[in-house]
Amino acid sequence: MTLKTALLQGVKLLGDAGIIEPRLTAEVLLAHATQHDRVWLTAHSDEELIELWWIHYGRYLHQRREGTPTQYITGKQEFYGREFHVTPDVLIPRPETEHLIEAALAGETACPTSILDVGTGSGAIAITLALETQAQVTATDISPAALRVAEENASRLGAEVNFQECDLIPEGSKFDLIVSNPPYVALTESLPREVRDHEPHLALYAGQDGLAIYRRLIPAAARALNPGGRLIVEIGSTQAEAVREMLSAWTNVRILNDLAGLPRVATARIST
Ligand code: GLN
Repeated sequence: MTLKTALLQGVKLLGDAGIIEPRLTAEVLLAHATQHDRVWLTAHSDEELIELWWIHYGRYLHQRREGTPTQYITGKQEFYGREFHVTPDVLIPRPETEHLIEAALAGETACPTSILDVGTGSGAIAITLALETQAQVTATDISPAALRVAEENASRLGAEVNFQECDLIPEGSKFDLIVSNPPYVALTESLPREVRDHEPHLALYAGQDGLAIYRRLIPAAARALNPGGRLIVEIGSTQAEAVREMLSAWTNVRILNDLAGLPRVATARIST
């Protein structure tokens, strides 16, 4: 069988199972099975599929049909132009979270010298900020398994980040900027099966209303920021007003929308 035929079969299998973007997904999975990229696949579509590729491809198609996100099959996700390794121990970095990076980089504080990323997961935010700024970056996570993934990403991408296993903010430390994409999903919210059945619940859910982490993080950040320091958090699309309320003692509170026009990032400055 040629690669072209294998691809068409994959597209059909995925499409029949109701998987969105069956063509792109089949291409990504076949490219991964052959250990090449999608460009190579297009250029070699008349080549014969060797047996080992077929075995891998078949397994990947099966996993995707069963609901496993493509990124956990290939082990990677692009974020802010760089490739991050991901495992089921970490949330898959989302494109919306790039707005948080933009907000951090566009800050009025010309160059913050110390940044803390709370609940770093794959390290996508901390590593991106370490590579895009001159700042000293610290990142925490409560999950040792997530920190191992983040550390591996940092060393592969050449980023210097000080990782610490800790719940939210290390005691006694001070920062100029605190960023976080914390868990913010309400326990009552229904999620796509890819997310619900495969991504770490520790990184997703935050109590009945999804606000449990902000209730602890915002006061802790107020104590841990240097005078004039900023807090930037990702929020759920229905949480803008609740989070704004929690930031009532702060200044320069802004809610930024994502590309879908939904509230996605809250930024605030600590009053001095
Ligand atoms: N944006 C994620 C989702 O909707 C949730 C991420 C989070 O809780 N930080 O699946």
